Amino acid sequence: MRAAFRRTGDLAEYLQLPDTAWQKGLAAAEDFPLFVPREFAAKMLRGDLTDPLLRQVLPIEQETVSVEGFTANPVGDHEATLTPGLLQKYHGRALMVTTGACAVHCRYCFRRHFPYGEGPKGIDAWSAALAAIHQDTSLHEILLSGGDPLTLTDGILGQLVENIAAARHIRRLRIHTRLPVMIPCRINDQLLTWLTGSRLKPFMVIHVNHPHELADDVAQALALLSEAQVPLLNQSVLLRGVNDDAETLIELSEKLLDLNVMPYYLHQLDRVQGAAHFEVSRAEGLRIVQTMRSRLPGYAIPRYVEEIAGDTSKRVIA
Ligand SMILES: *Cc1c(COP(=O)(O)O)cnc(C)c1O
Ligand code: SF4
Repeated sequence: MRAAFRRTGDLAEYLQLPDTAWQKGLAAAEDFPLFVPREFAAKMLRGDLTDPLLRQVLPIEQETVSVEGFTANPVGDHEATLTPGLLQKYHGRALMVTTGACAVHCRYCFRRHFPYGEGPKGIDAWSAALAAIHQDTSLHEILLSGGDPLTLTDGILGQLVENIAAARHIRRLRIHTRLPVMIPCRINDQLLTWLTGSRLKPFMVIHVNHPHELADDVAQALALLSEAQVPLLNQSVLLRGVNDDAETLIELSEKLLDLNVMPYYLHQLDRVQGAAHFEVSRAEGLRIVQTMRSRLPGYAIPRYVEEIAGDTSKRVIA
């Protein structure tokens, strides 16, 4: 993470981008800085501002334009907070916001207005969340999210999982992370030890939007996880200029299946301020998913969903 690009100019130089094009986006990087691991940048095409990986992370001028309907808290996270750091929207599962830090800053992120700079917390910072988990026997699954939980050390994560596993009603542990894609060497023996070493049944949900993200280094990291019997799921966000065509998403599903990853969700963009230019209409999304369905087996089709604040599950569009 220390080696990652944190200044647009450095990334632009590395990718040989034309000067004026990226400079217009500098104002957008002020509130939500650029942050791009080298492993991810290495998969981008040189000199191409339309590269689908670059578009996910490059601050651009349009982010600073305010568009009606796009707000700072689009999915009702403040309302769903049980105790600080623990969100529950759906029956039986609760989500721990383990850290504000991520291994990449995705420009379309619905948490882009959250305090991202926040570093790792110790186990003590979670005492209220853990107490709530121990007390509520209707919970069967804990999701570790953030930010990205895998930006924390394995020592801290091991302690956290041990504490959660001591609550006998919890059966499953789900990790939501982009790290296997952003910094594949993060998947190491220490991580596999706590992930597979507890009583809890582990699941991992990765986040890949475009088939170019699934290069050999990522494939190797995913192979370590699947060899360790960790079921792998993928979620994508439907993004204008990144993956808003059926051919791209068909190729993505094919590649995911090659790597033992089941396509899980295709999310309609959350309407967060600064991300309006990424939006694909539901009608267009539906057409894309229908084309996918005409070409792939049923298990290769992610559920196309949107998040409506107050609903009892993600809402299935198709
Ligand atoms: C999306 C989400 C989940 C997970 O939903 P699943 O349908 O189980 O994948 C859980 N908690 C919160 C707060 C969520 O936003
Ligand atoms: S990794 Fe996830 S939480 Fe972090 S910036 Fe990207 S979309 Fe947001």
